[in-house]
Amino acid sequence: MPTNDPAPSGALRSPPEGIFPSFEDLIGSIQRVAKDQGFGIVKLRASNYRDHKPTRYDLVCDRGGVKYNSTAKKRNPSTRKVDCPWRAKAVCEVQLGNQWRFQVQCDQHNHEPRVHSSNPGQENTPTAQSIRSLTNKMDRMSHEMTQAFDRIEQRLDGIEKRLETMESRMGAVEARMSSMETRGTGMDVPMDNMEMGGPMLDGPVM
Ligand SMILES: [Zn+2]
Repeated sequence: MPTNDPAPSGALRSPPEGIFPSFEDLIGSIQRVAKDQGFGIVKLRASNYRDHKPTRYDLVCDRGGVKYNSTAKKRNPSTRKVDCPWRAKAVCEVQLGNQWRFQVQCDQHNHEPRVHSSNPGQENTPTAQSIRSLTNKMDRMSHEMTQAFDRIEQRLDGIEKRLETMESRMGAVEARMSSMETRGTGMDVPMDNMEMGGPMLDGPVM
């Protein structure tokens, strides 16, 4: 790692590209370096199978992936997915005697390094502190927003339940109306009879 080009503040340096005797060596080594930098590397997919063994792994930052998955990952903001674009690949190369080459494809992160609890001395620079307090503030804000959304959701649930109750009540009313209608028809019959009977009864009197 060249020391003559210091990374800008907050930037995450990728593990150096290189060749490793096996994939286990490769992933172990780059995951160690990444962890020291404040991010994690995870396998996205295995491909190019040869004799049922993958000869290529796509690697991504552990904060890559879908940005917002509603309720999950709320607990720990430092592992929240933020769709980080960092990408790399590990390829088993025949011309290298089946050794594994590690190559970075997108050397960019869209988030701050994870704060290590193990070595706080390194992280207590004013910049790190202000970034951390800003991050905390943003986390609080997003937490409050989430809570507000939860409240809205609860209210909507309440409204939905009330609507359901109204609907079932309407159903009951409808049922009553139709039973009234039925009864009404039933009542028409004797009334018609009476009307029909009326003139018949009146006849003799007139
Ligand atoms: Zn990242």
